[in-house]
Amino acid sequence: MPQSPQRQPQAGAPEPVKRPRTPPVIIRDSGRWTEVSKLLSNSRIQFTKAKQCAEGIRVTLSGVDHFRAATRLLEKHRVPFHTFTLESEKSIRVVLKPVPREISVEEITEDLQAQGFHPIAVHRMRRLISKKELPLVLVELPPSEKKIFDLKTVCYLTVNVEKPRRSGWVSQCHNCQWFHHSQRNCRAAPRCVKCGKDHPSQSCEKTKETPANCANCGGDHTASYRGCCKFPRPKTASPRPRPQKSKTNSETTHKVDSVRTENETATTKIAPNSTANKAGKSFAQAATSANPASSATSASTGKFDGLNAALNETVTALGTAKNGLEAVQHFVNFIPKLIMILHSLR
Ligand SMILES: [Zn+2]
Ligand SMILES: [Zn+2]
Ligand SMILES: [Zn+2]
Repeated sequence: MPQSPQRQPQAGAPEPVKRPRTPPVIIRDSGRWTEVSKLLSNSRIQFTKAKQCAEGIRVTLSGVDHFRAATRLLEKHRVPFHTFTLESEKSIRVVLKPVPREISVEEITEDLQAQGFHPIAVHRMRRLISKKELPLVLVELPPSEKKIFDLKTVCYLTVNVEKPRRSGWVSQCHNCQWFHHSQRNCRAAPRCVKCGKDHPSQSCEKTKETPANCANCGGDHTASYRGCCKFPRPKTASPRPRPQKSKTNSETTHKVDSVRTENETATTKIAPNSTANKAGKSFAQAATSANPASSATSASTGKFDGLNAALNETVTALGTAKNGLEAVQHFVNFIPKLIMILHSLR
């Protein structure tokens, strides 16, 4: 007979003054909860709450030590789960701008080190499709180096330090293809982004001729396709840090495809500039700048959600196009959607 989930509040102790928040642990297979609750109990790992959620059983542990012990235990017993990074362990990510393209990431790294920082990663940001380098540099630093926001210069050039912008799209795990968490904290079984089968995407043997199969909905697209019925609709993108006043700024728009809850593994994707239009911006850029979802001034975001989603889908699809013909096909597919959306906006 299954045991009822044990609540094990801290015996004898009054409510602690202030504990660091522990992220929840999501046991992906609800069928293993009885086993898991016994394992936790036998190892004296305490939790304050366990509740069914869409992804399995969401467990809140009684503090950081219990959280660490629980994740180790679940790994040891190969219980599929995912969780999130402890607040104290989240790295800091900033965008430095403008940093001329001619300055290498090695030079930037050295200069940051000379200024007392310990960068974990330094990346030159590029456009999504053309891969053209931008005067933006993404820097990841240890959680203790918040002083990066006071940085004034890099290689003796004055720079601005900004938080990476969020696109509004939720994160997608590169391991299990599900949403709202990252591969780094995922111990669920791998599922292939291309064919949906239980293997890591890197080891997929699907040929170009075989259609993709979505791991989340079973449709004939990759699991990363944003038009998938299971892909959560984007929330409002984070506002621009300050008004864009020059042409250069429109080129340096940096959107981080993140990750509302988990930005440490956010993939940095630059707003694409595929087919230049007469205004010098890509179609996607032009439409995005007219899109309230990315504008701080919008009052009617919801109305444009459909347009935003369709645009993002198309942009994503264009990014995966293997040749010009495929890109044209993606664009042709977009036209009827656009017409429908525009019609509904009238
Ligand atoms: Zn995952
Ligand atoms: Zn595969
Ligand atoms: Zn799908």
